[in-house]
Amino acid sequence: MGHVIQKECTRCGTCCAKGGPALHREDLVRLEKGAFGRKDLVTFRRGELMRDQITGELVPLDEEIVKLRGRDTQTWTCCFLNVVDHLCFIYADRPAECRALDCWNPEEITAMYDKDRVTRADILGEDSGLAELILVHEEKCGYVTLERLAAAFDTDASARETFIEAVRFDMAFRAVVQEKASIPANELEFFFGRTLADTAHMFGLRVRMTDHGPVVERETASAA
Ligand code: SF4
Repeated sequence: MGHVIQKECTRCGTCCAKGGPALHREDLVRLEKGAFGRKDLVTFRRGELMRDQITGELVPLDEEIVKLRGRDTQTWTCCFLNVVDHLCFIYADRPAECRALDCWNPEEITAMYDKDRVTRADILGEDSGLAELILVHEEKCGYVTLERLAAAFDTDASARETFIEAVRFDMAFRAVVQEKASIPANELEFFFGRTLADTAHMFGLRVRMTDHGPVVERETASAA
């Protein structure tokens, strides 16, 4: 018996369960019309590890990307996938990557995957005061700097303390901008990406909360 050659989407939901798409410039119009909003987005910042959907490899990002978020903190399944019938809640307005993805023929998605991706500045506009807040956060919590600090975490007390300061800053900053800049809690991961407490494992570290604030430690060692 010969193989059945797939030629169209069978709506199995497998691709949507691997994670929401990164947004590209042509998706800005869908954002503007309200098909999805900032609360549906998560930013992966420069230097952050992300699984490349084409190669399957975990790679540090050369530039930030903005993606549709997962359904909850436990899964990367796209927040717009109806897990009961595997239909897309925003099918008519689904982003460019979803349109390009034919799982039986990856040519189109491969050709466009890392081109014309949008950044937070594209969404907010360069002159926005909110974009200024992002720059302040990046200066203190940028992954390129954190990677260097993490590499010296076990041997350099100054690097260790600076890393811990960044974790504290990240937590405090998110709380302050909610109050002072009226950024809703559900938009924080668009504005500032995932918390350093969530991503410290990229460096083999973990953040543990104590009565005296966050403690950063090696994942396999006792508290630093
Ligand atoms: S937007 Fe729709 S088609 Fe695209 S990954 Fe999410 S559920 Fe799937």
